[in-house]
Amino acid sequence: MQTTKFIWFDGKMVPWEEAQVHVLTHALHYGSAIFEGIRAYACADGTSAVFRLEDHCKRMLNSAKILRMDLPYNAEELARACIETLEANKLPEGYIRPLSFVGRGEMGVYPGSNAVQTIIAVWPWGAYLGAEALEKGIRVKTSSFARSHVNTSMSKAKASGNYINSILAKIEAREDGYDEAVMLDTNGFVSEATGENIFIVRDGLIKTTPWTSILGGITRQSVMTVARDLGYAVEEQQFTRDEFYIADEAFFTGTAAELTPIRELDHRQIGQGHAGPVTKHLQAEFFKAVKGENPKYAGWLHHYTV
Ligand SMILES: *Cc1c(COP(=O)(O)O)cnc(C)c1O
Repeated sequence: MQTTKFIWFDGKMVPWEEAQVHVLTHALHYGSAIFEGIRAYACADGTSAVFRLEDHCKRMLNSAKILRMDLPYNAEELARACIETLEANKLPEGYIRPLSFVGRGEMGVYPGSNAVQTIIAVWPWGAYLGAEALEKGIRVKTSSFARSHVNTSMSKAKASGNYINSILAKIEAREDGYDEAVMLDTNGFVSEATGENIFIVRDGLIKTTPWTSILGGITRQSVMTVARDLGYAVEEQQFTRDEFYIADEAFFTGTAAELTPIRELDHRQIGQGHAGPVTKHLQAEFFKAVKGENPKYAGWLHHYTV
């Protein structure tokens, strides 16, 4: 990966190589950490913009609340720290990764009074599933690993520990020659991918899985808004893998994956086998919104200059 100069660590800018923790850090043993993934884009007017920064910071605090972690920052302070980190690294475009974790102290499962530490790292990051994926779409498979039951992991928290489930699904999909995994929930309905939400389009209706076993993606919510503003009918509704097979179009959304078309699921070609018209339309409008090219969504952008 491409590194940058500084990492924000508990309020201080620390050189990249020196941002380290002890091997007995609680989170390293038990997964007791929460994080965010945020993107900044270079805009046509020469400034840069972080997409929905405040919403990501609020979600981070909600993740902390679910996991009973006390963060000594409010959303404004986290947002300011993200901007300071981008500025310190003179990064006009890239990925922002805030992470809060239970630090060292007692070694049992109970986190006790171990301090919660926070870092913010930024780095240049292109298309997560590849530039070709954004254009041509990807091949995916239904995972043998179910997305955790709603009372197993708290899926509305963007928690590091929850990612064990995603890692298993991702390894399986990649080893079997696919780009991504589609995970079903414990009732057998389509849930989400390893770090992306799922949309299908069939007979003019856009459907995305409801906010039950999924992480409520900010990209998902943004794409629903953009789609409705463009006049499309959008519903949050459960669907099965066979409904997915016969969809006209399908795509993933996520900060990392942006809006990635799906061209095949379990050896069934989706629609025409490439990005369909609705997907292309939404993708184009989404990229306009994040780059400040649609004034309607100016409120989603937090501008900065480096
Ligand atoms: C972060 C994440 C997403 C995507 O959320 P965005 O806010 O759109 O980046 C989807 N699923 C999981 C499991 C995630 O952790």
